Amino acid sequence: KELLIAKGLKQYFPIGKDRFVRAVDGVDFSIREGEVMGLVGESGSGKSTIAYTVMGMYRQTDGEIIFNGTSITKNTKGRSKEFRRDAQIVFQDPGSSLNPYQDVRQILSLPLKVHNVVPKSDIDDKIREILQMVELPPDFMYKSPNSIGGGERQLVSIARALCSNPKFIILDEPTSSLDVSIQAKILNMLMKLQEEQKLTYMFITHDMGVMRNVSTKIAIMYLGKICEIAPTKTFYEKPLHPYTQMLLSAIPVISAEEEALKPKKIKCEGEIPSPVNLPSGCSFHTRCPFRQEICTKEDPVMQEVEPGHFVRCHLCQKK
Ligand code: SF4
Ligand code: MG
Repeated sequence: KELLIAKGLKQYFPIGKDRFVRAVDGVDFSIREGEVMGLVGESGSGKSTIAYTVMGMYRQTDGEIIFNGTSITKNTKGRSKEFRRDAQIVFQDPGSSLNPYQDVRQILSLPLKVHNVVPKSDIDDKIREILQMVELPPDFMYKSPNSIGGGERQLVSIARALCSNPKFIILDEPTSSLDVSIQAKILNMLMKLQEEQKLTYMFITHDMGVMRNVSTKIAIMYLGKICEIAPTKTFYEKPLHPYTQMLLSAIPVISAEEEALKPKKIKCEGEIPSPVNLPSGCSFHTRCPFRQEICTKEDPVMQEVEPGHFVRCHLCQKK
């Protein structure tokens, strides 16, 4: 069953008269229950904007979002209480998403109260139980976010996201602000929770190595558009979009076997263009080593080349 569906989603930010940053520019994807969809792209490609738009922090410029069978974008007054219980987000920087003037107990009791998760008298027990889920000791509830380390702060953010028994969590680069030494611990924890709690994740990262280990399917973003979506296995075995091939050929590998599986090195020209002045036609054409004449004129449409494998490129169109 599809838990989250985005159709033609657009998020434009005005920057003066008739000028826009087209941060998200017509995106379609769906996430099935129990799936982990990796959303990958360079910084500024629109990943976080998709996350914030789904959560209702921005009202979308156009398009529709359906969650658990119900359109959630029709409601102009923000997201329903039900959605705010079922869908949670963990931000990249736990330092700025936790109130430094509250202790962990206060931080976690708020969602427990708002969503009536347990009777008032059981809140402390519930907090200890949730801390245990993220492998933090019970006395952590008396600590303040400022007195603990970055990894522990992120565990508290994850604990906060778990309080309402959500179905779906958006993880927006959950480990990229942390020391490498604790990244793996947090990733393992997230994947253990996903399995145990039967969660569905949208996992945002710019790290292709992380992506391979956590996701069941991968969507690649470039300048506000998704250029390829595929099941993780297909994605690494048969990447089709030149940009995907470029990202994959840049991952360092350790064995010769893996090296042999990597797509041939693709050199892309230049830097990522500004989302204010998007290139004509295919937005990747300014950097694509395979561009043809048509690429500068016509924006390719997303096509399903094999079941579940979608590509947006003139070279990969089904005949
Ligand atoms: Fe490259 Fe053309 Fe494909 Fe765009 S449509 S990725 S420019 S080949
Ligand atoms: Mg971001």
